[in-house]
Amino acid sequence: MKKKILEILKSSNDYVSGQELSRLLGVSRTAIWKNIKSLKAEGCEIDAVNNKGYKLVAQPDIVDADTILPLLNTKVLGRELFWYNETDSTNTRAKAAGETDGADGSLFIAELQTAGKGRRGRSWEAEKGTIVAMTYLLRPDIDIACVSRITLVAAVALARALAQIDGIKPQIKWPNDVLINGRKVCGILTEMSSEGTDINYVVVGIGINVYNNSFPPEFADRATSIELENGVGYNRSKLIAAVTNEFEQIYNQFLENQDLTFLQDEYNSLLVNRDRQVYVISGNERTEYTALGLSPDGGLLVRTANGEVQNIISGEVSVRGIYGYV
Ligand code: ATP
Repeated sequence: MKKKILEILKSSNDYVSGQELSRLLGVSRTAIWKNIKSLKAEGCEIDAVNNKGYKLVAQPDIVDADTILPLLNTKVLGRELFWYNETDSTNTRAKAAGETDGADGSLFIAELQTAGKGRRGRSWEAEKGTIVAMTYLLRPDIDIACVSRITLVAAVALARALAQIDGIKPQIKWPNDVLINGRKVCGILTEMSSEGTDINYVVVGIGINVYNNSFPPEFADRATSIELENGVGYNRSKLIAAVTNEFEQIYNQFLENQDLTFLQDEYNSLLVNRDRQVYVISGNERTEYTALGLSPDGGLLVRTANGEVQNIISGEVSVRGIYGYV
């Protein structure tokens, strides 16, 4: 009943009278009133005016299968969708499904992660309902050496989806971060399970800052959210669907021959450090290079001080601008 009332209010630009709602839904006006009260309690802003009726002013940004599935145009990604109000980490949920019979393309989404993860055991932090926290479970039939390239495919999908938002101009910090105005708005964590050279499954975890308006001091100077950038944020279901639609398209192209040549120009146009001096940090070692662009195997092509071109493999390295984060 609540859902039907919401649909009617959503489709009308004007007030809908209680009488009209009760006629359309075949219930009493008291039942309508009770359901409106409950919708308000869930966060819907509904204006009620005597002799006019009800008007939907604003809806909370609810994320669930009902809000996402109608927006997907994918065949595989997101077709099995698991939503958690609270969980440890969506990567952990996806891995548990990967260990059993979780389907290729399954998508795990959480409102709150109590143990959100970054690379090398670091954490991904956010308050409940402020971010998109989601993980795809994939079962690709590819060479194990090519798995890390999926992170780059996901980064371009994220950049394409974010670019659909008015006023947002995303960039990529190789290999796994998407930035706006030089600050991190998304992180990607790809993990794999294999036996020998056989891949059991791959999980691609994505965190997108949507409504966060502050960050812990340790990284406040290099993090941002969509809301901080455009003043309003963005509907998270739309964003999840846009990322999923873009990701499936690029992922399928990648699966054809696992080579990233097709993505090089686009990736390079998004690369925040392109043609700039960077430090590549590996453990305690820090080497200065000029970042040149993406290599077809997913590495970062760089020029050394004596003019030699090298290919940095993503594994355990971080890239930093020589004067700061980028
Ligand atoms: P590097 O730039 O060193 O390669 P990274 O981009 O690989 O780092 P990740 O491991 O992907 O970093 O993400 C974890 C790091 O991101 C944390 O150590 C913290 O600094 C930062 N971080 C954690 N939560 C958020 C968030 N919500 N928004 C932006 N940055 C965050």
